[in-house]
Amino acid sequence: MPADRSPPRQGRATAAQARKRALVNRWGEARDRVGGTSVLGSGAVVVIPGTASPRGGVLVLNLDDEPLNICGIGRAIALIGSGKAEVVVTRCRPVRTSSVELERPSVIRLQKLVRRPRLAARLTRREVFARDNFTCQYCGVRARELTIDHVVPRRLGGRHTWENVVSACRSCNARKGGHPLSETRMRLARVPDRPSYGLWFLWVNRPDAEAAAAWTPYLPGASRA
Ligand SMILES: [Zn+2]
Repeated sequence: MPADRSPPRQGRATAAQARKRALVNRWGEARDRVGGTSVLGSGAVVVIPGTASPRGGVLVLNLDDEPLNICGIGRAIALIGSGKAEVVVTRCRPVRTSSVELERPSVIRLQKLVRRPRLAARLTRREVFARDNFTCQYCGVRARELTIDHVVPRRLGGRHTWENVVSACRSCNARKGGHPLSETRMRLARVPDRPSYGLWFLWVNRPDAEAAAAWTPYLPGASRA
């Protein structure tokens, strides 16, 4: 028996794998050259250092263009290479490896409809600060250290909702204390409200300017117009 007839590293090739191989396009070839282990089953995933952070993320759209989530560039390439997603928008800077240069996806679209309810705009401190442009809603100061103030104090039945929380600097929060707004001489810069899904999505994922511009058309309510 010739000793060099070792099996392929990916193991036994099933019919499904063979079909998948046939589907491999330019992205897939690059994926295979870079190598790695799969997040998608029997394929491979590219791990390119430094691109897994949210700022290097890729917006994944459902087949109906509903934004689903953000994935890393490696997973995006694996999805495209295996025919599970298509590129919708690319970035200026390509992906470079030692052997290939590819357009870097910024938005991709799945080729199958995934049933998943839209994420609710979760109320967290950072997203409240982002909604309020990191500005105290009472004195207008852009403060590094902000606090959350309940406009109707919780002890008076005020709820922890988008409509009842605002960003406040420490001194305004201390001044207001547990009083209702009507008992103070303080005024709100704007009436607090629930952000659009798109804006919230941008705040949570913090894309850089180029990615934000690419994603905004696909995020409902993300352009403040
Ligand atoms: Zn203030």
